[in-house]
Amino acid sequence: MTSFLTSWDDGYTLDLRVADLLDRYNAKGTFYVCPHTQHRSQMMSEEQIRALSNRHAIGAHSLSHPHLTLISREDAQREIHESKKWVEKVTGKPCTMFCYPYGAVNPHVRDLVKEAGFTGARTTKDLEFSAADPFLEPVTLQIMPFPGRRHSRISWKLLDHFGPLRARYTRLRKLQTPHAAMGSWLALAKYLYGYAKETNQSFFHLYGHSREVEKYGMWGELEEFLKYVKQSQ
Ligand SMILES: [Zn+2]
Repeated sequence: MTSFLTSWDDGYTLDLRVADLLDRYNAKGTFYVCPHTQHRSQMMSEEQIRALSNRHAIGAHSLSHPHLTLISREDAQREIHESKKWVEKVTGKPCTMFCYPYGAVNPHVRDLVKEAGFTGARTTKDLEFSAADPFLEPVTLQIMPFPGRRHSRISWKLLDHFGPLRARYTRLRKLQTPHAAMGSWLALAKYLYGYAKETNQSFFHLYGHSREVEKYGMWGELEEFLKYVKQSQ
């Protein structure tokens, strides 16, 4: 049976809205939190994280959200070890999962996470349905504008409006994704979830940032997808 997994990065206060949606549709989440404020957004307080840990899993995501591959081994080790301790202090529960900030990982960083006593770690490699290595667990789909991103200001990125689709096109074709399913995030999510079930994959893993769900106005799409998953289980 295909497991439906979700995970949410950074620990924004808006994660509580995600948690309410997950509860409404009987879905589970892992919330990867770090103590430092990200993107000048409002972050969950320690009390809010502790309360959330009674409903969903809380994972570690480093202390200061660095690229772990670009800092010294000692600093990376400290970021990884101390974030586990911090989550355990806040929740009063064992913290078993780690998530690499920016998905940045190499064999050394992977080994540091394993040595710290975690049982697994998540990357940001997408369009995958199973993990060959529990410390390099990929995801299936990020909730973000698709096939293109809207840009609020003029930039060179305007020239590559369909960047998210372009970067994934070859892999999507390998997954036999019809062009009709590439027209919107929701259509793609539904198609890939159906594909995972039909081909009996080990998981479908949705991940995202509540801050971006808000920024891009995707709450309705998230809710409709969670409803779709619940109805097809
Ligand atoms: Zn992050």
